[in-house]
Amino acid sequence: MVRNSIRAVSASESGRGLKLSDKRRIELEDWCYAQYVRGVPQHIICQAINATKSRVSRWIISAHSRHGDARADLLLETRRSEIDRLMARVTFEPNTGCWLWLGSLKSTGYGTAVSPASGHRKQAHRRIYELIIGSLDEHLVLDHLCRVRACVNPDHLEPVTQLENMRRSRASHGSQ
Ligand SMILES: [Zn+2]
Repeated sequence: MVRNSIRAVSASESGRGLKLSDKRRIELEDWCYAQYVRGVPQHIICQAINATKSRVSRWIISAHSRHGDARADLLLETRRSEIDRLMARVTFEPNTGCWLWLGSLKSTGYGTAVSPASGHRKQAHRRIYELIIGSLDEHLVLDHLCRVRACVNPDHLEPVTQLENMRRSRASHGSQ
């Protein structure tokens, strides 16, 4: 379901003093770092793999020093404050991986957020997608692959044309 997903940290692995295998530790470090560089806030990374904040911080720093990717940090810095502001209104659903929007919802069930630049309300899932993945052609809409309209996880969204979105919507209603 979630792209780039990784096995959660098991109860025995999260125990104090337990040594992870080098392979497993590097796998976790690289995964955490990749999410961090994309702009995913740390509390979401922690919840996704069931690891403590201090441990995830250590993993991110360790992978960072291994990769020495200074440019990624610079790019991220410009988006970080808006991502943090929006993600403060999100809760993580561990079974589906959905990021559920706790801010205001339209009657259609989609989340909305005020854009700091224009002062206008925008679709929350679209804004988060643009901040984490990149800008989106204005003619494209984001299809919720998880079918949860309040979800803002970019991995659950696929950019499609308006026509394709309508076709999919009809197909899913027809099959119910
Ligand atoms: Zn979802």
